[in-house]
Amino acid sequence: MSHEAIHQDLRGAVRELCRSFPDAYWRDLDARREYPTAFVKALTDAGYLAALIPEEFGGSGLGIAEASVILEEINRSGANSGACHAQMYTMGTLLRHGSDAQKREYLPKIATGELRLQAFGVSEPTTGSDTTQMKTMAVRKGDTYVVSGQKVWISRAEHSDLLLLVARTTPIDQVKKRGEGLSILLVDMREAIGHGLTIRPIRTMMNHATTELFFDDLAVPASALVGEEGKGFRYLIDGLNAERILIAAECVGDGRWFIERASKYAKDRVVFGRPIGQNQGVQFPIARAHVNIEAADLMRIKAAALFDSGKACGAEANMAKLLAADASWEAANVAVQTYGGFGFAEDYDIERKFRETKLYQVAPISTNMILAYVGEHVLGMPRSY
Ligand SMILES: Cc1cc2nc3c(=O)[nH]c(=O)nc-3n(C[C@H](O)[C@H](O)[C@H](O)COP(=O)(O)OP(=O)(O)OC[C@H]3O[C@@H](n4cnc5c(N)ncnc54)[C@H](O)[C@@H]3O)c2cc1C
Repeated sequence: MSHEAIHQDLRGAVRELCRSFPDAYWRDLDARREYPTAFVKALTDAGYLAALIPEEFGGSGLGIAEASVILEEINRSGANSGACHAQMYTMGTLLRHGSDAQKREYLPKIATGELRLQAFGVSEPTTGSDTTQMKTMAVRKGDTYVVSGQKVWISRAEHSDLLLLVARTTPIDQVKKRGEGLSILLVDMREAIGHGLTIRPIRTMMNHATTELFFDDLAVPASALVGEEGKGFRYLIDGLNAERILIAAECVGDGRWFIERASKYAKDRVVFGRPIGQNQGVQFPIARAHVNIEAADLMRIKAAALFDSGKACGAEANMAKLLAADASWEAANVAVQTYGGFGFAEDYDIERKFRETKLYQVAPISTNMILAYVGEHVLGMPRSY
């Protein structure tokens, strides 16, 4: 079967699953700021979140291209992959850098959903995008690491068993380069909560289950270290291209949802005796948003193809994320404008998706940081920060 045919089958199957979770399901959870447990379970049971786990560990061993199609279709259905995407790709660090014993222990259970690896702990309140300056410390004492510090915006921590934590194991003033001395620990939160780990939810403008984490001398077994001590920043960077491509696909899905809704509404809504979409002032912004989504999609397809063939794709993955996030945000604005007053009404879902897609201007990496990457690493200009 050709790649295209596999993608069509996959799209159809994901679309079918998403049909059981219509707008009203998401609207209701949004109002209550509740986690979509039933939706995530349905995706897990169908095996979609194990798409990137190799078959030998119980997953389906698909590529980023296929995984991105799954997330695109979720968002295109009006749903939000933010609830589940991390279960798909956070395990990549374990897969690439974990020991054989760690892989055998965790990956099959992550594939079935018996273990949820949905939380990834990088961001900190005082250091933000300046990741290497993070202050959370993991100090080796015998056969444990003792972790102290604070993380912020750690999403899905309340709905995850494991946390992939990035912490400093060597103080920054004792390393030659700022990226050195960071390490990755796979923390079992089921054991940690109440023994040095406290999770505090943060209510945000959209339904995102994000939290703050407080580490107060949490003892983590040394066997939780992933790869070599001190190399965590390198491992972190290794996983970013996959994340960028998958988020780009979600944005493409969002954009297509907005454009579908906006163009339909523009055809149906009659004001001044004609469909509003007959006015170029209404029609052209929707058409332009469509053009931009389709262009962003090409960069996402290019980045995924490079990634899946093992080639360098840092520039393309970053550009895909920026283009797709901008295009979905443009489509969101256009949809609100097309719906007029109804764009603000919760019952029409436009405002909900508008709030959701805005996130991708900021997380997991903000647009400015991508431009800084392109300026420095693609165009060779001086580092700006
Ligand atoms: C809902 C949500 C979920 C998240 N989930 C996670 C998660 O699961 N795990 C996790 O680790 N993190 C998570 N994050 C954190 C996210 O990755 C950060 O918010 C993001 O990287 C930006 O960091 P910051 O918020 O500290 O902004 P800051 O670094 O304080 O930046 C603020 C603004 O200034 C700009 N800026 C800063 N420095 C420069 C510069 N040198 N040049 C130009 N512009 C600059 C930025 O682009 C940004 O617009 C999440 C965030 C949100 C809001």
